[in-house]
Amino acid sequence: MTRNFEMASKGLPMTTIEHYVAPSSLAQAAECLRSGEVTILAGGTDLMPQSQAGRLKIKRTLMNIRGVPELKGIAIEAGAIRIGALCTMTEIMQDKLVQQHLPVLVQACDHFASDQIRNAATLGGNVCNASPAGDTLVPLLVLDAEVELASKPDGSLSRRRMTLAKFFVGPGRTKLGLAELLAGVRIPLPPANHYARFFKFGTRPALDISTVSIGIAGTLASGVLTNVRVAFGAVAPVPMRAPRTERALEGRRLDAAAIDAVAEVAREEVTPIDDIRATAWYRRELIRNITKRMLAHVAQS
Ligand SMILES: Cc1cc2nc3c(=O)[nH]c(=O)nc-3n(C[C@H](O)[C@H](O)[C@H](O)COP(=O)(O)OP(=O)(O)OC[C@H]3O[C@@H](n4cnc5c(N)ncnc54)[C@H](O)[C@@H]3O)c2cc1C
Repeated sequence: MTRNFEMASKGLPMTTIEHYVAPSSLAQAAECLRSGEVTILAGGTDLMPQSQAGRLKIKRTLMNIRGVPELKGIAIEAGAIRIGALCTMTEIMQDKLVQQHLPVLVQACDHFASDQIRNAATLGGNVCNASPAGDTLVPLLVLDAEVELASKPDGSLSRRRMTLAKFFVGPGRTKLGLAELLAGVRIPLPPANHYARFFKFGTRPALDISTVSIGIAGTLASGVLTNVRVAFGAVAPVPMRAPRTERALEGRRLDAAAIDAVAEVAREEVTPIDDIRATAWYRRELIRNITKRMLAHVAQS
């Protein structure tokens, strides 16, 4: 059932929110979005700090999607692992399917904030917040993830899919339509000999936003990677795939000279900015040095 009532919380801007709704199905949630003027609330770990800091204005209706069953759960469907948008970092880390098939995602969740935030923060919120430094985005990019978007354009529920690499358009901006919500993320089951690693660098080991992050994946045989995927976080307006670095690494035997050459391509491919966490120069150096370290691991695997 959908409930409407006035927000009474001190933290929320009372002047703009007129309704709070809590749909109990995906169809109800999509119906509510058709009215426009709706802000979606999942774990609230981005939305609430951003609205309180005045960086985001909550629209007339605040829709809490936490009671929508179709947005929950992790399962294998048609050769892919589907992770519901409402799955939290803790649920993802503890899930047996994810542990078995997508250990790189467990690695990323393990470096995500604190226990308390991991218990509330959802995958859907991380994807839709579209921060260039979002920690699950780099591993999802190297795993060829797709987003599953739901809406009711003509009164009946419809879904469309898009590769995650095409979803981001700028910091905090995605191709999600005004009347759409993210239902889940689909990740093709990785093949045998699949290799994937994630590295996050922050100014302290825990509870820090990435200064840079790197994901490398592919099929590994005798220290050589094929079907290479490389992605970088916090070094461009969006979390980015790195096609030039991928081409430089594809099928290459990794001696010291080759590792240096690929890491140099990576350094040149990123376009970071100076901000409070690091200068652009420092981020480029980090990308080169961490890429070298990660490729040394590939070479020994
Ligand atoms: C102390 C602290 C530490 C943090 N540390 C990290 C960190 O280490 N790494 C990191 O990546 N992030 C970090 N974050 C940011 C945040 O926790 C994550 O981005 C989190 O995944 C957001 O999920 P949420 O469920 O809380 O989203 P919410 O805050 O509920 O929503 C975020 C945005 O996405 C939209 N949205 C949510 N779900 C959907 C959906 N299904 N469909 C459409 N739109 C949707 C909302 O409208 C909102 O615009 C931190 C935040 C805090 C407060």
